[in-house]
Amino acid sequence: MINKYSEEKFDIRNFSYEELAAYLKAEGERPFRATQIFEWLYQKGAWSFDEMNNLSKPLRVLLTERFILKPRKIAEKQISADGTTKFLFELDDQQRIETVLIPTAKRTTVCVSTQAGCKFGCRFCASGIGGWKRNLTTAEIITQILHIKEESKKHGNPLSHIVYMGVGEPLDNFAHVMKSVRIINDKKGVNIGARRITVSTCGVIPGIEQLAKEGIQIELAISLHGFDNASRNVLMPVNRKYPFDDLMAACRAYIKATKRQITFEYILIKDVTCTEKAAAALKKSFKGIICKMNLIPYNPVSEFDCQTPSRNEMFAFKNQLERIGIHTTLRAPRGKDVAAACGQLRYTVDNVVRKMT
Ligand code: SF4
Repeated sequence: MINKYSEEKFDIRNFSYEELAAYLKAEGERPFRATQIFEWLYQKGAWSFDEMNNLSKPLRVLLTERFILKPRKIAEKQISADGTTKFLFELDDQQRIETVLIPTAKRTTVCVSTQAGCKFGCRFCASGIGGWKRNLTTAEIITQILHIKEESKKHGNPLSHIVYMGVGEPLDNFAHVMKSVRIINDKKGVNIGARRITVSTCGVIPGIEQLAKEGIQIELAISLHGFDNASRNVLMPVNRKYPFDDLMAACRAYIKATKRQITFEYILIKDVTCTEKAAAALKKSFKGIICKMNLIPYNPVSEFDCQTPSRNEMFAFKNQLERIGIHTTLRAPRGKDVAAACGQLRYTVDNVVRKMT
């Protein structure tokens, strides 16, 4: 935490409103200055303190001396035929993370990364292939959103939805993720409603328990992807630490505590996850849970030999789930031609895509 005696320079977007207000107060500034700065950072899209022309000159000089405010380096930008745009951002330590803008007729969504790499190694997801390097800071999460917010002006709709579903496990970087969520949700910040913010998890139970206590009405998505303990053990190594039944119990407790629905993300892999056996197991486990299940057709990743089911197989499975009372949607893949679809995002370092060894 910065104080007036600190000599280190910090990215200003690492600070919550309260932290910034406390710092400014200690510097003898008036309370409304924090609001003005927040508006410049998150609503007016300032990338330098010089732009903040309603602040006094001495305050702008002080901010420039004490804080970092600069755009993130965009190493690459790829635009899919369907309008989905994938950004490769380079961080100050040369880690590279991917962020995706997904425009549709009614909304514009950003899918953000929360870690450089991922330690969870799900067996269908490119993000875990190179392993985990480090957590992203609040500022590194927020700047992805600010860049996409700017980019979204080129599309019909302004940025309206945030999904924490890029590279990394959000609840494994809980503090920075939640701080970024609060800045996004803050009326003085990015000002996006809590119900338009979705945090996903591969099943980190302590994080789910912690989230239930946060008292914020964001959406929770569970990347389930398996239908029982054995299938989840194979597809998602995290299951060995947090087994299927414990996860389902944690979800029930979350729903009870927050009175909110959960969305379950479920990958469709031919002959693996969309079978009669899978539907029967899900029927048993989801008894009494009111939820939405989002079916995601497997998107090819060269290192894995999974296959995408045919459309008929996907719809047959969807209908099976509907018949047993699980409300399902089938996600249309977006940005597949630029490897921006679910499970295809990667992290890279020094411009080398790391391969599974
Ligand atoms: S699905 Fe999520 S938790 Fe699993 S490897 Fe990919 S990014 Fe990591």
